[in-house]
Amino acid sequence: MPRKLAAGNWKMNGTQADLAELAAMAEASDAEGPEVLICPPATLITAAAQAAPAMAIGGQDCHAEPKGAFTGDLSAAQLIDAGATYVILGHSERRDAYEEGSDDVRAKARAAQSAGLTAVICLGESETEREANNTLDIISGQLAGSVPDAATPENTVIAYEPVWAIGTGKVPSLEQIAEVHDFMREKLSQRFGEEAAKNMRLLYGGSVKASNAEGIFAIENVDGALVGGASLKAADFTPIIKALA
Ligand code: 13P
Repeated sequence: MPRKLAAGNWKMNGTQADLAELAAMAEASDAEGPEVLICPPATLITAAAQAAPAMAIGGQDCHAEPKGAFTGDLSAAQLIDAGATYVILGHSERRDAYEEGSDDVRAKARAAQSAGLTAVICLGESETEREANNTLDIISGQLAGSVPDAATPENTVIAYEPVWAIGTGKVPSLEQIAEVHDFMREKLSQRFGEEAAKNMRLLYGGSVKASNAEGIFAIENVDGALVGGASLKAADFTPIIKALA
């Protein structure tokens, strides 16, 4: 069984003043428990890595090219230089707002992995897609399209985040989460072999909080969570880390 992962995506939230929250979260991280990852805004990566050396720090996006004339963007090597070891890619907020398709996500993941980052590749269906019973087709397409051929359990984490569950307080039933996670494990197994697929961590994300974490983490193919709102404060995130231990 792979080591569980409690990951927090701060999105466009947080300034230097919030680093105190990280220090408090770091107290809940120990070598015996789950790995803890926080992806703050890029402006805080270096300070976060210094403030919480027991935790992993990640970026929230990177460019597919290693350098060049891409105003406003960051390369994988720059994230590493700042102190990151992970990067979130293909988050639905970026797929929607910047029209990132699975091809773009795969190119970014390839760049991240060859630079030495672990890519947290996000996928998930919209509410309309779920209502039309298309969830598994969407997941199958995004998984095949977004995950590079060179994916390994070390350089890749998959996060299933139903778009309709993000920031809404709505969570799929445990059966629905289990169905998608079992399906992803099976698809990964067909592509990368059983051993690699078994060790690749599959996270659930979308309105995870202390009150629902234990139930979600009891699902066989859930290896952790990608948490948004409830990762901003130690008081909210620490119980989620503990629920994974
Ligand atoms: P919430 O936990 O706020 O629903 O956000 C989930 C998410 O988008 C994490 O990437």
